[in-house]
Amino acid sequence: MTHQIRESGHNTKLTPRLKYLPFALPDIDETELREVKEVLESAWITTGPKTKQFESAFANAVNVKHAIAVNSCTAALHLALEAIGLQRGDEVLTTPYTFAASAEVIRYFDAKPILVDVDSRCLNMNPELIERAITPRTKAILPVHIAGLPANLDAIHSIALKNGLPVIEDAAHAFPTKYKGKMIGSLSQATCFSFYATKTITTGEGGMICTNDEALAARCRIMALHGISKDAWKRYTAEGMWYYEIVAPGFKYNMTDVAAAMGIAQLRKAQKMLARRQEIARRYNEAFSSIPKLQVPHDNPEMQHAWHLYMLRLNLEQLRIDRAQFLIELKNRNIGSSVHFIPLHIHPYYRETYGYKPEDFPVAYREYRREISLPIYSKMSDQDISDVIAAVVNIVDTNVR
Ligand SMILES: *Cc1c(COP(=O)(O)O)cnc(C)c1O
Repeated sequence: MTHQIRESGHNTKLTPRLKYLPFALPDIDETELREVKEVLESAWITTGPKTKQFESAFANAVNVKHAIAVNSCTAALHLALEAIGLQRGDEVLTTPYTFAASAEVIRYFDAKPILVDVDSRCLNMNPELIERAITPRTKAILPVHIAGLPANLDAIHSIALKNGLPVIEDAAHAFPTKYKGKMIGSLSQATCFSFYATKTITTGEGGMICTNDEALAARCRIMALHGISKDAWKRYTAEGMWYYEIVAPGFKYNMTDVAAAMGIAQLRKAQKMLARRQEIARRYNEAFSSIPKLQVPHDNPEMQHAWHLYMLRLNLEQLRIDRAQFLIELKNRNIGSSVHFIPLHIHPYYRETYGYKPEDFPVAYREYRREISLPIYSKMSDQDISDVIAAVVNIVDTNVR
């Protein structure tokens, strides 16, 4: 079943796409290989000069004072919550429409994630519902910039300010992203990025905490490496000292220089990769926005969307097939796809721990059931884009109700 319609002007004809198009692929070339080779040959393979270099290049890119490289965004979020002093029994406001990491880091402290339903257009936390969810136990707000389109930070910051709460951004999707002309990364107490394999820039596994708060940065640095007051690089180089102090039972979250070397190369081409994703989004929007069975993702001219994900929504009442079948039809046409996200509150852990029902967060639940994510990455060729468009159009055309 590899036949599909391929676009050719206004004529459409069936041609097979023989090779499966993966949902996501990293954009890796000689530049990453060269950087990594240099690290391996230097024999300094764990946290060291390359990590420092990556941190300062990233801080520069998002215009922030401190950037602390760690081994995941999950680690970054954990450290940021530790640094603001989150305690057992505290509450943190976040969104149900996200990946596991955003809320599990709150549970690490035996604190409670308080889910706030999303805005149906952008699928980010609905600010009108945030204020109502605040209690005397609320200790932070943790918004997620879903797909790479920023949450409403003006509203979130004003609520946070009024209630004396720090904002920790889960920016796993949001590099490079701008909020009203300013880079995401410097706008809240802390902003956490992901360099996981499928994210907009990757180090295989990796993350970054960005902050302008000196004390918060210092605490994250210490806790990222065993609660030790000096890192390994300073301890073992000639000018370093053998002496160190354990000031808290920290974690092992440091980034390696091998990963940082990849990050340096990825960072250099981040704008080029973004431009390609913008082009893909533009072509998808152009093809899909006039089809009433489809709802193209929300964008906002005041923002720079990172286009980590292209989240298409199906108007299911106009189709004969459901979302699950739509994904199978894509697969039958050799197009990879995914779903973002299964809302947290319908997963067994959260359902059983907090007694949630699907309707408790009706917008997240409803939108999840009609969402499909299409491939959007810089390695895609023009033909790949055309193939995705043709497959989607063909599935819609052959399944109108
Ligand atoms: C990928 C992701 C994370 C976790 O990132 P890791 O680097 O894999 O820990 C956190 N939040 C969201 C929304 C994500 O998509």
